[in-house]
Amino acid sequence: MPTPQFYGVTTTGIYCRFGCPSRTPRPENVVYLNSTQDAQVLGLRPCKRCRPDQLTAPHQAFHEFVASQLVILAQQHPAHTIKEHAAALSISTRQLEWIILLQTGFSPRAYLNSSMPASLSERIST
Ligand SMILES: [Zn+2]
Repeated sequence: MPTPQFYGVTTTGIYCRFGCPSRTPRPENVVYLNSTQDAQVLGLRPCKRCRPDQLTAPHQAFHEFVASQLVILAQQHPAHTIKEHAAALSISTRQLEWIILLQTGFSPRAYLNSSMPASLSERIST
């Protein structure tokens, strides 16, 4: 069996990328999908946060990489602006904002706030 690309949630009728910030579904409601076509066949809609319909796999891998790099940069240089982080990643600020939005559904700043250890307990309780 190939590694699935997405998961669908039968109770909500949406499908997501793995790593979507949406609530983790109950296992009995999950269907594994190999493509967006699989999701369409099942009548599932793409999630608005992780946009599984909008990117191809190579982009996704790059975006995941950028997102993880951004978290490391922010931990190393907490005082840096998003613009400075983008420069460190060799991409434009707009590109970084777009990538993080597509990847996580948040602005880079909101994403970093939610990724930082200090706000971890806050995130879990919501
Ligand atoms: Zn999602």
